[in-house]
Amino acid sequence: MPYRKYIPEKIIVEKRVWELPWTQEILSRMKGLPVRKISTIEEEALACQKAVISPEESLKTLALAQQSGKFLKPCPGTSNYVCCGYYFLNIATNCDVNCTYCILQSYLNIPFMVVYTNIEDAFRETDGVLGAHKFPLYRIGTGELTDSLTLEHITHMSEKLIPYFAQKKNAILELKTKTTQIENLLHLEHNRKIVVSWSLNPDEIIRTEEKNAPSLKERLDAARKVDAAGYRLGFHFDPMIDYPNWESGYKDVIGRLFAAVHSGNIAWISLGALRYPAQMDRLIRERHPESKIVLGELLPGKDGKLRYFRMLRQRMFRKMVDWIHSHDPNVTVYFCMESPEVWKYAFREQVLQKCPLPGMLDRSVFEWAK
Ligand code: SF4
Repeated sequence: MPYRKYIPEKIIVEKRVWELPWTQEILSRMKGLPVRKISTIEEEALACQKAVISPEESLKTLALAQQSGKFLKPCPGTSNYVCCGYYFLNIATNCDVNCTYCILQSYLNIPFMVVYTNIEDAFRETDGVLGAHKFPLYRIGTGELTDSLTLEHITHMSEKLIPYFAQKKNAILELKTKTTQIENLLHLEHNRKIVVSWSLNPDEIIRTEEKNAPSLKERLDAARKVDAAGYRLGFHFDPMIDYPNWESGYKDVIGRLFAAVHSGNIAWISLGALRYPAQMDRLIRERHPESKIVLGELLPGKDGKLRYFRMLRQRMFRKMVDWIHSHDPNVTVYFCMESPEVWKYAFREQVLQKCPLPGMLDRSVFEWAK
């Protein structure tokens, strides 16, 4: 199915953000859609729950709301696995790409596509954190609770975030996406302080498990343009999925990736194998009956999530590391939420002893950390 940008059927706006400039800017792009002022999105979510409105139907509503909690939070990581020391800037939540394995379907209480338009508060808060400590260095992403660019045509969020982070000495912003919404980025001054990242999978997996997302070719074409605009790039093979042709499928993606972009611009490539909380199994079967991922052999890991057994993960990662480094041995590869044993097997040595993961990633993007 060709990729279609998200278009809401209606917009709800919390009264307390109605006057904010970003709220009005977004509304001006969405003229013609029904708009309703509301008290809070929590109240609306409760009403949806009572009326038993399906998650698919609720997602057709775009909500403009106030972030009342913290915008900037450290990644919670997961117990017993190696953590990369990342921060999330939560300016939007929820996602229309509808991947079968997406963790959001199991834990978001607000069923709408939400944008927190009090972005000046986000900048104030981030200024406070970054200004208070010159070190550590901050790697910050907006893609914890959403795809970083899926609402770009509506919000033009990149035009706010990129000029802000371009000026920061001790922070890098990562925009992580599966979409091709990069046109707004191409004319912005980024000062090499932004990493634009794509999650990749073979087309066989995209067709069944990432149905509303652009094809591999479309994602790599977008990456090529962003590469030409001088941005740093990231790639995430997460989740990697075990299927009969996984070796040829993933090897082919690696070859196409290195043919598409300059490897010297790649900040990092992460690898992570399919994993999800046990309670998501039923949800996936109900919502995505055609999905193949629940057919794999998954066992509870040290963090309680279902995962492929270790031998399989190790084999997948070792192959991937070898394929990646056969194209460029200097590209930084890391694993998301894996044990030190898996690291050692995949790299054939304990690379973490030479440099812990946060330092390894800092050195990839901060010149003075090298
Ligand atoms: S693109 Fe990311 S956030 Fe969106 S549905 Fe897929 S996994 Fe979830």
